[in-house]
Amino acid sequence: MIIESGINKSEYYIELENRYGAKNYKPLPVVIERGEGVFLWDVEGKKYFDFLSAYSAVNQGHCHPRILKTLLEQSSKLTLTSRAFHNNILGEYEKYICEYFGYERVLPMNSGVEAGETAIKLARKWGYEVKRIPENQAKIIFVEGNFWGRTIAAISSSSDPSSYTGFGPLLSGYIKIPYNNLEALAQAVADKNVAAFMVEPIQGEAGVVMPDEGYLKKAFEICNNAGVLFIADEIQTGLARTGKMLACDWEDVKPDILILGKALSGGFLPISAVLASNEVMLTIKPGEHGSTYGGNPLACAVAMEALQVIKDENLAENAEKMGKILREKLRKINSPLIKEVRGKGLLNAIVIHPFGDNKTAYDVCLELMKNGLLCKQTHGDIIRFACPLVITEEQINICADIIENVIVSLK
Ligand code: PLP
Repeated sequence: MIIESGINKSEYYIELENRYGAKNYKPLPVVIERGEGVFLWDVEGKKYFDFLSAYSAVNQGHCHPRILKTLLEQSSKLTLTSRAFHNNILGEYEKYICEYFGYERVLPMNSGVEAGETAIKLARKWGYEVKRIPENQAKIIFVEGNFWGRTIAAISSSSDPSSYTGFGPLLSGYIKIPYNNLEALAQAVADKNVAAFMVEPIQGEAGVVMPDEGYLKKAFEICNNAGVLFIADEIQTGLARTGKMLACDWEDVKPDILILGKALSGGFLPISAVLASNEVMLTIKPGEHGSTYGGNPLACAVAMEALQVIKDENLAENAEKMGKILREKLRKINSPLIKEVRGKGLLNAIVIHPFGDNKTAYDVCLELMKNGLLCKQTHGDIIRFACPLVITEEQINICADIIENVIVSLK
């Protein structure tokens, strides 16, 4: 590494990305070099609280020692066979995750968006083979404000113009209805060609948008009565983030198709999963779907350990407790900047009023960064707070104080 005189290490790395990388992100100007638990360190050695957790992928804390040990052990033995052959970890993992969540079958994939795609393919196949929807007529219902990734299938369901503009033609067979609107759902499922309804229990990227209590349960019943599959996208809300293992658990809803990702590896590698019944899963036959890395032994070993850590360390309970403390403290902040504090468990957000000279949530994040807390704005006026679930009471109080001091200081 050659650093020109006059620039520091951070500037050097940022400049490299600016020079050679695609410009599809606008990160905060901080360059992270190391992580442990709830902490991150930048290349200058400055320490931060991580209040994003890589968009809820690091629920177990950075570089969790047990997951790391599993990763190292398995990667020195066998990492990838593809699905052309069996391997001695995949079946163990499939049994483990099915029993963990109470499903009959699992289909392993890599990224979250692939899990979403898989769920849609499964729903369509089930629609044709079980519900007997006429060929190529199957429809899937989505809600406005959803976010499940960046593929063409995902952006076709989006209501955010910055997601889909310039990327057409988009996929057909989608119905979009308002979130948190049961009447609209009841009307939409009346269409006999609807195979599934896909929903985030709490909308993460939209800005931690929470539906009314009872929405999920009622939505599930509406789908169930109409013979429509209920797909829960728990990629961000699942795995203890909201204070229960799944956000759907808050309303005792068991989705027909459950999709998981992000924290399924505790931040070590991309691992996602689709869980469903025999009736749904077995509609896809050999050769009809798959992925070279999906179900690789390294991912399977890591996912089992990452899931076990969530249970052994009672992360759901901790998220519930720490979340309550955080929201209580945030709600007491006396500042005209704060419009709303909302969230569940450790998936929280504050909505802010514009301030100063056209300043936005981004400026608040910059100021929090300077004060040792890293988080990211969404939609200009919302800041999501989603720290690793291993945070202690002492640490959450320190973080709440940092946020309070920063917000009170901004005018
Ligand atoms: N679903 C939800 C709810 C998400 O929040 C995300 C990513 O933020 C995804 C799906 C896509 O996951 P990935 O980025 O791993 O493809």
